[in-house]
Amino acid sequence: MSKALPSRSENYSEWYNELVKRADLAENSAVRGCMVIKPYGYSIWEKMQRALDDMFKETGHSNAYFPLFIPKSYLSKEAAHVEGFAKECAVVTHYRLKQDENGKGIVVDPAAKLEEELIVRPTSETVIWSTYKNWIQSYRDLPLLINQWANVVRWEMRTRLFLRTAEFLWQEGHTAHATAGEAIAETKQMLEVYATFAEEWMALPVLRGVKTPNERFAGAIDTYCIEALMQDGKALQAGTSHFLGQNFAKAFDVKFQDRDGKLEHVWGTSWGVSTRLMGALIMAHSDDSGLVLPPKLAPIQVVIVPIFKNEEQLEQLRARVSDIVKELKKRGISVKFDDSDANKPGWKFAEYELRGVPVRLALGMRDLENGTVEVARRDTKTKETVPLEGIVEHLSTLLDDIQQAIYDKAFAFREANTTPVNSYEEFKEVLDGKGGFVLAHWDGTSETEDKIKEETKATIRCVPLNAPEEPGTCVYSGAPSARRVVFARSY
Ligand code: AMP
Repeated sequence: MSKALPSRSENYSEWYNELVKRADLAENSAVRGCMVIKPYGYSIWEKMQRALDDMFKETGHSNAYFPLFIPKSYLSKEAAHVEGFAKECAVVTHYRLKQDENGKGIVVDPAAKLEEELIVRPTSETVIWSTYKNWIQSYRDLPLLINQWANVVRWEMRTRLFLRTAEFLWQEGHTAHATAGEAIAETKQMLEVYATFAEEWMALPVLRGVKTPNERFAGAIDTYCIEALMQDGKALQAGTSHFLGQNFAKAFDVKFQDRDGKLEHVWGTSWGVSTRLMGALIMAHSDDSGLVLPPKLAPIQVVIVPIFKNEEQLEQLRARVSDIVKELKKRGISVKFDDSDANKPGWKFAEYELRGVPVRLALGMRDLENGTVEVARRDTKTKETVPLEGIVEHLSTLLDDIQQAIYDKAFAFREANTTPVNSYEEFKEVLDGKGGFVLAHWDGTSETEDKIKEETKATIRCVPLNAPEEPGTCVYSGAPSARRVVFARSY
């Protein structure tokens, strides 16, 4: 058996890196910050994609595809946008290589310089709005509700598998509307789609909120976000939904004729979640033995391990299991019967634990005689002996229970690690102690936010939506504040 994972309490960051590799999710590549997503990791991502895509379609969106390369001049059309993204853009300058003069290596061919340099998309607002100019003329063309699944590149300096990579996979929604009200409603609707996905599929409780101007998307009027808490007490921004106002419509001259024949600029939104969600899933639920996957996103939901001494025993077990496998599949439960004799049952148990398979059945000859099976839960690591009769029904209910239990555990963790504070002393004490979400009054200025970040590394994760009005005074400046905001150190 391979060596144990580092424990979370020993070294959380090592635990995470090792877990991602050992559970066969992803690995680093030759290019710094870029990752190879391995089949097991990719199959979890595919499940996420499918569920999200269904939700996007359900809310009226269609998928399309726009190019990877963006003319450099497009990026600068929206002033705040270029300012935000310029620092992390990969640029294509040439389109050909040639042998160098000594014939030893390959060099960029100076004769093949592009007339206009191209940006590898860090996000697609510019290329999409330049296209929308041709697609939108009248109010009849609105709303335009488009999503694309793609890869993007942001030249990040500090990277970590899934959580922050230079190239990542994501979806980006880009919608156009006739009124500000409709665009804001869309922004909020998609935030709610993300929150529902996080909670119901990922079993991950999230705060819904609005970013402060400091943390806003470059080019947005407002950025809405979902924020989750990881087990080390750090926050993770798990998804964003932006109200773009008319910023991109003005930059790309996208106008429509309204019902009265008047020409108006279009209102826009954009929203995205990325492979960062994989990082969130791993960090939120997993333990020192490996992954803990919520059943709804687990590529294998039930694994059956036969305990046998010879081929004859295996045949008998196989005969009994085959009906169970069929029944489970019929219910849409993904099941693996691991009858390989290359590895011992103990090895298999550890391996499926590492990979986060929610339920493991172990079945031996004695079980066959007794008409029972051992059922082990990955999340609680508890085992019970259950009658084979009715096992399919039992497993179906058990998977639902596990999904709920994983959510409840994460929710209780967040509750226990959300702390209201009333002074800057207390603020720093909590941050340096258990961390987590710190609810504090803030005077609403960027200066105070910057100072706090400089001194404590904590940022405002969001101004929570529907936060109760609660007049108080800023923990830093003492100036009046209308409500508490959520601070945390974050990924
Ligand atoms: P943004 O376009 O900046 O609002 O980001 C959209 C989504 O992509 C958010 O859900 C972010 O959490 C995620 N994201 C941003 N940068 C990265 C990165 N370097 N690696 C992975 N995900 C990212």
